[in-house]
Amino acid sequence: MRLLAMILSLAVSLAMSAGLSAAEKFKALIVDGQNNHNWKATTPLLQKHLADSGLFIVEIATSPPKGGDMQAFKPDFAAHQVVVSNYNGEDWSPATQAALVDFVRSGGGLVIVHAADNAFGKWAEYNRMIGLGGWGGRSEKSGPYLRFRDGKIVRDTSAGRGGSHGKQHAFEVIVRDPQHPVTAGLPTNWMHAPDELYDRLRGPAENIDVLATAYSDPATGGTGEHEPMLLTISYGQGRVFHTTLGHSPEAMKSVDFIVTYQRGTQWAASGKVLDASVPSDFPGRDKPSVRE
Ligand code: ZN
Repeated sequence: MRLLAMILSLAVSLAMSAGLSAAEKFKALIVDGQNNHNWKATTPLLQKHLADSGLFIVEIATSPPKGGDMQAFKPDFAAHQVVVSNYNGEDWSPATQAALVDFVRSGGGLVIVHAADNAFGKWAEYNRMIGLGGWGGRSEKSGPYLRFRDGKIVRDTSAGRGGSHGKQHAFEVIVRDPQHPVTAGLPTNWMHAPDELYDRLRGPAENIDVLATAYSDPATGGTGEHEPMLLTISYGQGRVFHTTLGHSPEAMKSVDFIVTYQRGTQWAASGKVLDASVPSDFPGRDKPSVRE
């Protein structure tokens, strides 16, 4: 087994050094078109980060604008290995909703970026796929808060809103599951560039793994709790990577955002992280690192 693992690892590093051929690359689909965030500026970064890894071919499916004919929005999820949502807007048609559920349930990958977890507050299966969400009418009826207390993740069912954040600021992200392929080998603590630190997210939180948290400091308008930042969820045969980070283009240029997003999207696509290298500009605990 050990020899086999070595051969496999050698094969992967050879494939990486040679670059993947177009046929070998993961097919990713970014979904956008409506968002209370600047999706026209952030989607190109989400596309670039995947393309820069050399592991993805990226397509984009843009919905009609608000008030448009949503019945006409039918992305071909099944033609891809992973769907990245940069969407926070009007409900999709029942057929498009069902297509996403079927895609993930049958083994597809889904990546939820920042305000994508604000979308579809009343869509039960979406909430199961993303684990936790905010705004959109979410409350204690949506499920618990997840908080890191006394060395472990706890489910907090107390009443209250779903979703909030304080003032944007740079903050420390702390890895809580260093064994997961998405976080393995990364520093256990690093500084993230100024961003919204989401707090009070709530949802079904089934089959969920909190990979990393950040302290939501009352001094910046936070909760005084360690709140989930990076999450994975298993749903049917599929995998979901959920990053609460990435409010703005500037936040998406934070090297930790780039690396965890690249790793998380590989993992959602395949269950593996093919490129687990840690770039030399990855931030430490002292200050954020931003790639222009
Ligand atoms: Zn935001």
